[in-house]
Amino acid sequence: MPHTFSSKTRELSIRQMATESMDLVVVGGGITGAGIALDAASRGLTVALIEKNDFAFGTSSRSTKLIHGGLRYLKQLEFGLVKEVGSERAIVHRLAPHLVIPEKMLLPLYEKRGMGYWLASLGLKIYDWLAGVKQQDRRVMLTRGQTLRAEPLLKPEDVKGGAIYAEYRTDDARLTIEIIKTANSKGAIIANYCRVTDFVYAENRVAGVQVTDLITGNTFTVKANTVVNAAGPWVDELRELNHSIKTKRLHLTKGVHLVVSHNKFPIKQAIYFDVDDGRMIFAIPRGRTTYIGTTDTNYNGSKDDVLTTLGDLTYIVNATNRTFPKVGLTINDIESSWAGLRPLIHEDGKSASELSRKDEIFESETGLISIAGGKLTGYRKMAERIVDRVVSTSFPQLKIKCFTESIPFSGAQFRNYDEVRNYKGSLLIQLSVLHLADHVNYLVANYGKQCDLILERLRTNLEKDTDVALLKAELWYCLEYEMVLTPEDFLVRRTGMLYFDLPRLQKAKEVVFLEFKSFFNWSSNDLGIARERLEKLILQATQFLPSNNP
Ligand code: FAD
Repeated sequence: MPHTFSSKTRELSIRQMATESMDLVVVGGGITGAGIALDAASRGLTVALIEKNDFAFGTSSRSTKLIHGGLRYLKQLEFGLVKEVGSERAIVHRLAPHLVIPEKMLLPLYEKRGMGYWLASLGLKIYDWLAGVKQQDRRVMLTRGQTLRAEPLLKPEDVKGGAIYAEYRTDDARLTIEIIKTANSKGAIIANYCRVTDFVYAENRVAGVQVTDLITGNTFTVKANTVVNAAGPWVDELRELNHSIKTKRLHLTKGVHLVVSHNKFPIKQAIYFDVDDGRMIFAIPRGRTTYIGTTDTNYNGSKDDVLTTLGDLTYIVNATNRTFPKVGLTINDIESSWAGLRPLIHEDGKSASELSRKDEIFESETGLISIAGGKLTGYRKMAERIVDRVVSTSFPQLKIKCFTESIPFSGAQFRNYDEVRNYKGSLLIQLSVLHLADHVNYLVANYGKQCDLILERLRTNLEKDTDVALLKAELWYCLEYEMVLTPEDFLVRRTGMLYFDLPRLQKAKEVVFLEFKSFFNWSSNDLGIARERLEKLILQATQFLPSNNP
């Protein structure tokens, strides 16, 4: 039985972090902070993790959602990075086979653009070798005919051949929340909606953080031996508070994805294709949709409201129509979109696309450790580097090395993907009788074996409309076990409904609001604020501004 991780445990956690002195405070509940908290707690350090919004609110819910070896890094000759993230893919898949799912990627090849046939063949061979890909999953080169049969929507005149290679797809926000929950089960004390507003110092060293609880407005201090700043695009804001931006600083670039119905863009598998400006973008089928992205442009606007502009939209729509002319995408086909920021390290003279994706660690004179750059895929290794550093500096007596490669995530007690398939089969039998068979793939990918709790709740609270009963059971699970505090936590990051199932969200939202009202004893005013906030998010995902907001 998993232990609860909810608004109630949040209050206890806040009290505990405000009274005990911690070995380590981690600022930021994205994938980087989550990974650090899990690594440190599992090695025996006392850890507090503090997130100013919901977990994965920042970049970790707005990526391309691939656990990938980064073929583009091969183009930039970053062999070390390809090797590291390539071998990490297999580890993260093993830890959560229901959530990190193998996906064969089609790479169409052209006469006069992109890599060309022979270069791609060699590049992918090197890629497979660096990433340690198993024999049966290694790249397969395709003839022109095979490529067009694999994807009949491609413009036939242009295609010269193709390649199929191995990647993994995931849900970034779900991956983050599962790591957060696993860290919590190893003893990390964790709270969302708490903002770090400043540092506290003792003898000129950072010795903790000042925090505002954004739900109650209360402020408190958390004392710590070491503070790690894993605030993603906000890393420099915290470094500024610490007066420690002396040399390198962040360079934020924006990446946008568009979601269309799969009926409109019915690709048979994931595709990685060339754009006229030399970049490449992905088209990935997911449930009832296909999503396409990403862009890569310099960004100086608000970090809290990153929006898709008409320019971003036009770039992706034009690139798609050029490669798949039969699809004829228009602005009216875009169901939803999201925009995220890459927290990269600035390098003079380099364009957005040329900047390295490698992570870097900075330590200030007062001992604040900051980490930026990197990939979702490399989170475990980034965490290991940070925790090794903290241990060797402050806890040299601790001899335990990183062992997160053998800690499965909560809900992931599957030994391999075959076991995931069997579990899906048993769920299909149970849900078919309730006319809910369509939800099986989604439920298992999202919750793994934690579906057992959702189904138990569903059975004991059945109602005539089984779809609504399932929604309520899922929401109950997220309120009790995933520290959901607002409707958007549930509708955006726990379920991805805002992006991948807007029609269901429109039907579900009133049920969700009323469940929140009763769970949190909300007033009509609270309800009004939540409704307004969600409508704003729906508008942001579906309407496109002429330019970035200031
Ligand atoms: P974030 O996820 O942004 O987390 C930082 C957190 O810190 C935020 O939740 C924020 O609210 C919190 N915070 C900030 N300030 C404070 C404060 N004062 N107090 C408390 N909390 C605070 N990588 C891949 O491996 N595969 C991909 O397919 C991929 N695609 C990408 C596509 C795009 C468009 C982008 C932008 C990135 C992509 N990446 C991908 C990279 C990857 O998503 C990021 O490297 C990763 O998510 C960064 O995580 P993070 O935890 O460092 O930052």
